[in-house]
Amino acid sequence: MTICYCSLHARLFIWAQHTWADFPRETIMKIQRYYNIIRSTRGEDPSLGVVEAACDECIQSIQYIYGTALNDIDSP
Ligand SMILES: [Zn+2]
Repeated sequence: MTICYCSLHARLFIWAQHTWADFPRETIMKIQRYYNIIRSTRGEDPSLGVVEAACDECIQSIQYIYGTALNDIDSP
């Protein structure tokens, strides 16, 4: 199972609820280390691991920055 995690905002995507939630960085680092151990003992499994992803807060920030930039462009 792949875990989607935003390290910038320390948020984890919960697949069952299709939502993002705060999740401690220390815990995700432990999970990543466990995955690395499993990979080293069983071989590479691309479906297993933690992937960096843009969370809901990333999207809101991008939308805000993009909207501000569009307003600046539209302003006379
Ligand atoms: Zn984020």
